[in-house]
Amino acid sequence: MLYIGCHLSSSKGNVEMVKTARKIGANTFAFFTRNPRGSKAKPVDLLDCEKAMDLLKELEFGTLVAHGSYTMNLCTADPEARHFASDVLKEDLERMAALPGQYYNFHPGSHVGQGIEAGIDQIAGALKRALEPGYPVTVLLETMAGKGSEVGGRFEELKQIIDAVGSNQVGVCLDTCHVWDGGYDIVHDLDGVLAEFDRVVGLERLKALHLNDSKNPMASHKDRHECIGQGYLGKETFEAIVNHPLLRDKPMILETPNELPGYAAEIALLRGLMKE
Ligand code: FE
Ligand code: FE
Ligand code: ZN
Repeated sequence: MLYIGCHLSSSKGNVEMVKTARKIGANTFAFFTRNPRGSKAKPVDLLDCEKAMDLLKELEFGTLVAHGSYTMNLCTADPEARHFASDVLKEDLERMAALPGQYYNFHPGSHVGQGIEAGIDQIAGALKRALEPGYPVTVLLETMAGKGSEVGGRFEELKQIIDAVGSNQVGVCLDTCHVWDGGYDIVHDLDGVLAEFDRVVGLERLKALHLNDSKNPMASHKDRHECIGQGYLGKETFEAIVNHPLLRDKPMILETPNELPGYAAEIALLRGLMKE
């Protein structure tokens, strides 16, 4: 079963997102847990969450992949701002408990000159503080393009965070644009990259994918998403991904430059690439 979807607006609640997803041919989706710019989150609507959970089950959706705010930087240099980011993560994970069993993905952070080791320590510290044992949520670290001082551009860095947290509620979300921009050649050697992921992190930690083509060549460290098949990755790479035995059952989220009709078309395109 291919579970594919895109980012949806959460402004009308969870039930509306499930309905919208259904309309565009999606059977999973992503949403920001709060306004990507601001920090204030709406109170959790428990009834809406419960209804959404029933609907997800009824429609046989795959696991959802919520996305933490882009502005949440767990390894920013200012201690006060860092503590605030850590509070945001803690609150987000509490909120996710109202949608049990779903994933919460986030960008590990940018160390802004503190150095990669300090960044890893601070990210792991925030996760340890936020991730109460027993919360019904798996936290996913997103693979990054290695732009600026981003942490998570190398599989080794994700592994260090995972080890430092020491919880099996931590996994990885592989972003195809980011790994390519980070220097992993998924165009010519997808199997090799997955073997490398397995060697360094372990494939059991790979829980979800972000499907994005890239506007830039490999190892550019740029992080500029392109529509599927229109960038350096090309349609063949996505054909290989949706048919790959190690990947095809994971939730796949599009973050391409599209509105809903464009997403619907890309979902149909990707489903059409499946070989059965
Ligand atoms: Fe992301
Ligand atoms: Fe992404
Ligand atoms: Zn990106």
